[in-house]
Amino acid sequence: MGELRKVVCPYCGFGCNLLIDPKTLKVKPHHGEPNRGKLCPKGLHATEFVTSRDRLKRPLKRIGSAMVPISWGVAIDEIAGKLLEIRELYGADAVAFLASSKVSNEENYLLQKIARLFGTNNIDNCARLCHEASVHALKLAVGTGAQTNPYEDLEGFKAILIWGYNPAETHPVVMDYILRAKRKGAKIIVVDVRETRTMAFADYKLVLRPGTDITLANTMIHVIIREELYDEEFIRSRTNGFSEVKMAVRKYTPEYAERVT
Ligand code: SF4
Repeated sequence: MGELRKVVCPYCGFGCNLLIDPKTLKVKPHHGEPNRGKLCPKGLHATEFVTSRDRLKRPLKRIGSAMVPISWGVAIDEIAGKLLEIRELYGADAVAFLASSKVSNEENYLLQKIARLFGTNNIDNCARLCHEASVHALKLAVGTGAQTNPYEDLEGFKAILIWGYNPAETHPVVMDYILRAKRKGAKIIVVDVRETRTMAFADYKLVLRPGTDITLANTMIHVIIREELYDEEFIRSRTNGFSEVKMAVRKYTPEYAERVT
């Protein structure tokens, strides 16, 4: 490898550093934070698309069943002309602009500018489709639709409950942090509807019937309340609706959960 350049992997929010040889485009992991010499397959193969035979390098226009290369000037003129024609005939709201989380914030910003200049608020991003549910739930539960702790915190935990998530296969760099915690004595509890590879590292594994997660969650709350395992001061000063929760989980005994899940 020649002189390596350090860049951030574009594929997920973990933000691993990749060391790339600009001549060969070969990738090596960076040994500092946050990935500590590890990369998942997505990062390791992050540059393959650059040399891929399928890479789109110029605009193509469908003519009949063929995709015919055209120049950028012709493509931009044709698309702009067609958009103006649609706006003239049907109004600006007949058009929607869809942005991508695989381009930069600045490019997304520019696309929403184009949409508004065109005259519509129909602008969306695939990140909303993927993350709307989790962002909403996190905002309700903890006040912000984002991760609450840095990944480094995982190493200091004494127990890690992994629920409906399979980092051993989907996020091996995070799994490395979890395994460091395990080596320091943390108990790993994995809940999922199928036997995942992450379960191979679990101290406790719970394989549920699909659709019964909420029963298990309510049962855990039931036991925490019944055995007074909660922090009273925290409940008093930082939460509301506790008596309603108590009522709601009354029937969720472990015996009930065992039958359902
Ligand atoms: S975990 Fe994988 S996809 Fe995510 S940043 Fe690291 S190498 Fe990239």
